[in-house]
Amino acid sequence: MKLFIPGRRFYKGNTHAHSTASDGRLSPEEVFEAYHDAGYDFLALTDHWRVSAEQAYRGMLVLPGVEYDFNFPTQVLHLVCLFQRAEDARGIVRGMSHTEVIGRVNGVGGVAIAAHPAWSLNTTEFLASLDGVELSEVYNTMSDEPFNGPRGNSESLLDVTAANGKYYRLVAADDSHRYQGEQCAAWIMVQAEALTVTDILSALKAGRFYATQGPEIYSITHEDDRITVDCSPVSRITFCSNLYWVDGRCSSGEGLTGETYRIRPGDRFVRIQLTDADGKKAWSSPIVV
Ligand SMILES: [Zn+2]
Ligand SMILES: [Zn+2]
Repeated sequence: MKLFIPGRRFYKGNTHAHSTASDGRLSPEEVFEAYHDAGYDFLALTDHWRVSAEQAYRGMLVLPGVEYDFNFPTQVLHLVCLFQRAEDARGIVRGMSHTEVIGRVNGVGGVAIAAHPAWSLNTTEFLASLDGVELSEVYNTMSDEPFNGPRGNSESLLDVTAANGKYYRLVAADDSHRYQGEQCAAWIMVQAEALTVTDILSALKAGRFYATQGPEIYSITHEDDRITVDCSPVSRITFCSNLYWVDGRCSSGEGLTGETYRIRPGDRFVRIQLTDADGKKAWSSPIVV
């Protein structure tokens, strides 16, 4: 089984960015310009509790989006939500519980993404309890050094969550606020039928995307007890799973363009992680085996 449709193009997009409509430093127009000029196909402007409208900016699709936040005694939940239409978010207001908000987002065909779970100090139990949230940021540029502390990376937290049975699909995003280097650094490549809001959201729900800071995944094939990845040249290809020690799970070298992993007894999920010569990474979502 191929995880991506052969021959179908991937669209590059950032699902998490802020503007002067909340606590970002650039105006919405300036944010669009920054991402457009960097070659993005789509962008979600996700200001805090301020839903952006769908629009096209010089050919770049701007998805209706928002970031909602909820506070708990030892953690926070930030939910990046993408909608078919901005009007669909009408009625979602501060004071609602996170479960009610998640229900409403799904009820109108939207997509909810758990933002920066490591930064949020989320526990795996809490992440596992988020019914209706199937995507999570595995990497958030703004939550990482040098912009913040070293909590932009949620790989380990989401592996523990997956080992306990909740398989989040993995997104990478900038969460750009200051536009001082954190913008255009982490994104998703989405295999949508066309560059429309409906098609991007459908592809996200179907899991036809991967997260990256640069390395490209061309194909992933899962056949019998083998998972094979084809990719742009990288220095490391790692197959992460719920098993502790697996001999040969990490291949390293110069210009690696693919690798095959043999699924071991006890593997319940396998995800692929690439690292290029500059240390830039790409992440597949967990493949349930
Ligand atoms: Zn946030
Ligand atoms: Zn944010």
